Amino acid sequence: MLLVENLDVHYGDAQALDGVTLEIPERAIVAIVGANGAGKTSLIRAIAGINRPTRGRILYRGDNIAGLPSYKVCNLGIGQVAEGRQVFPSLTIAENLAMGAMIPRARANRDRNLDRVYAMFPRLAERRAQAAGTLSGGEQQMVAIGRCLMGEPELIMFDEPSLGLAPAIVQQVLATVRDLNREGITCVLVEQNVAVSLKLASHAYVLENGRVTLSGSGEEMLGDDRVRQAYLGI
Ligand code: ATP
Repeated sequence: MLLVENLDVHYGDAQALDGVTLEIPERAIVAIVGANGAGKTSLIRAIAGINRPTRGRILYRGDNIAGLPSYKVCNLGIGQVAEGRQVFPSLTIAENLAMGAMIPRARANRDRNLDRVYAMFPRLAERRAQAAGTLSGGEQQMVAIGRCLMGEPELIMFDEPSLGLAPAIVQQVLATVRDLNREGITCVLVEQNVAVSLKLASHAYVLENGRVTLSGSGEEMLGDDRVRQAYLGI
């Protein structure tokens, strides 16, 4: 579905990604694992059209989308749940969700998608008129995921969706990723809970200093000594 080939990303003279090649198969959950600063967010932002790659191709269903502006990438069905949730704090839940439906592909089905999001997260329905900035971290994450779903994505990239959330809520967020995947949405998951993300993932890539150093099935990665030592503390 998505093929990243030899991707480089620079910030000025600093290189964040160095020849990254990876594949996201349709309906998969692909985990991206790596230490702080390894380049995980840079990869997601490059695919999302926020960072312009300095080299390489990003093929989505065969078309090179590298360098496309982010609204065009979104409109192709590639959604992103950004690190830190990034809800609009002074807007209500309903207004935040409406922002996700501004792209042309999602406008016609806006009401249906809104019903779907409220059915998935009844708490958001109950509080739809509340300012998003007054919600708990877990509720804000639901808003961020809901807003992404309003754009009818076929692929969602989740950047640290459980960061800063209480353990019970972490489980809920990861169960949501699993449920969305079962509904047919392809997922890219960057997650500090490496063991949980590898259990969920069909495929995984390890990024180190902007390079892919290991890849395999989630299960293979869980059993790999280097992964166990570096990321699982075993
Ligand atoms: P983390 O888990 O800490 O978010 P990450 O794996 O997502 O890390 P990136 O945020 O992609 O890593 O960062 C990769 C490298 O690029 C790091 O060295 C970082 O300092 C650098 N970097 C990221 N964003 C910028 C920026 N806007 N300007 C300059 N350097 C940046």
